[in-house]
Amino acid sequence: MKQLTKSFPEGMTPLGKSAFNFRCHPGVSCFTQCCRKLELFLYPYDIIRLKKALAISSEEFLNTYAGVVAGSNLLFPSVILRMRDNEECTCPFLGEGGAGCTVYHDRPSACRTYPLERAVDRTSRSGRPDEYYFMTNHDYCHGHQEAQSQTVSDWLRDQRLLDYNAMDDLWAEMDTMFAANPWRGEGAAGPRQQMAFMVCYNIDGFRRLVHEQDLLGQFKLSRSEVTACESDDEALLKFGFKWLQLMLDDRPTLKPRRR
Ligand code: SF4
Ligand code: SF4
Repeated sequence: MKQLTKSFPEGMTPLGKSAFNFRCHPGVSCFTQCCRKLELFLYPYDIIRLKKALAISSEEFLNTYAGVVAGSNLLFPSVILRMRDNEECTCPFLGEGGAGCTVYHDRPSACRTYPLERAVDRTSRSGRPDEYYFMTNHDYCHGHQEAQSQTVSDWLRDQRLLDYNAMDDLWAEMDTMFAANPWRGEGAAGPRQQMAFMVCYNIDGFRRLVHEQDLLGQFKLSRSEVTACESDDEALLKFGFKWLQLMLDDRPTLKPRRR
């Protein structure tokens, strides 16, 4: 996800409401050509969806499928999907024999958004972030030659991107906070940063900490909010983001409960 102001880089024109031709399906000659040799960044919500689809813990997911790299945020590491160690460097979720994506219903937001790219402008005077979509064009991708026409909003609906985008926007706020060096002199990989990494990428580890320290009991939360956090990783991740904003940046995102 790119952050930008309204002057767009040369050659990039947002699609707006105009229609574009694209369709990806098993009949295209390039089917799955895009599922290899990728530098595919994973966002926190991607990991929640993938580990659930694979029925494994977030620790197991990170150990088996992810790599931690230095990304554009110099003060917080990024997580990428580790490609298979084969000649083609294929995605670990690419099925054998042209089977396509084995985690299709829970594929990462980057895979859903393609061939579009999303950019968010948080400087809008309206106070609400503006989003823009741009068309990418790779020679190997023949989906552009298909007759199916749609607008960006059709695409977002069709690819079930709205939930992903909402969670990715919350994550972008966190990433911006991390880039402002809230580590209080501990530097990279200090205890605060390790905690933040766990909240964002290792939801099962965070869930254990929440239980051990009765974190939910320390704040004024409604019964339904507590129940949601206890049973739903997405709700717990949202709570974790608020908790980090309070702990690292003194934002009044949660009200402490007096005991
Ligand atoms: S997750 Fe699925 S769609 Fe995305 S690169 Fe891997 S196989 Fe392809
Ligand atoms: S290269 Fe394009 S059309 Fe081909 S499988 Fe990938 S997204 Fe679909």
